Amino acid sequence: MKNTKHIFFDLDNTLWDYRKNAGIAIRKIYESFRIEEKFGYHFDEFYPHYHQINEDLWEKYRDNKISRKELQESRFPLSFQDLGIPKPDFAVDFEQQFMDEISTGQFLVNNAKEILDYLKDKYHIHIITNGFAQTTHYKINNTILKEYVETVVTAEGAGVPKPHPIAFSTGIEKSGAEISESVYIGDDWVADIIGATRFGMEAIFFNPLSESHKWIENVPVIDDLIEIKNYL
Ligand SMILES: [Mg+2]
Repeated sequence: MKNTKHIFFDLDNTLWDYRKNAGIAIRKIYESFRIEEKFGYHFDEFYPHYHQINEDLWEKYRDNKISRKELQESRFPLSFQDLGIPKPDFAVDFEQQFMDEISTGQFLVNNAKEILDYLKDKYHIHIITNGFAQTTHYKINNTILKEYVETVVTAEGAGVPKPHPIAFSTGIEKSGAEISESVYIGDDWVADIIGATRFGMEAIFFNPLSESHKWIENVPVIDDLIEIKNYL
């Protein structure tokens, strides 16, 4: 990747550890709502239900099948129903508190700081995320990410989520980069890697959970961010 001047990162689970920060936030709210005492389900029983439903809804959001509002209104009601609580009236408040709490999460993905320190003097660093505008702002400005990132584009800002090319072209326009000098790095095969390569950008697939995926020529696959050093 010789001519690279700009690096575009995905945010959730690429730099900002959504899995860890969300787990901590949801456990805290689960306890404050005293759900185990009221309904008999331990947090560890609940969390896999939430995880699966949230992943499925984000895929639908990415594929333009549901709106952001529908995602937010349904993920906790569906998760609690799936757990075995038929009418979880408290789930609306749960979502509200979750949105407040998740934004305060500080954990970054392993080696995020190390690789950003390595990249920062040689490249311009940007973010294109499918995350919501307000939470994205907090995730960056509450953490050391603010010291590295020059421009940020959200799905709301672009008008469409990745893998839509407009999400990427908005990032290119906002940063002043050329497509030919840009690399995209993300952990979602469809949104990040299919999206970026179809748009014409080089890409690196970050796959820490070893999820099954297809292969695209000249797209390296890494399972630790520090391996970016092998390509940039
Ligand atoms: Mg991601």
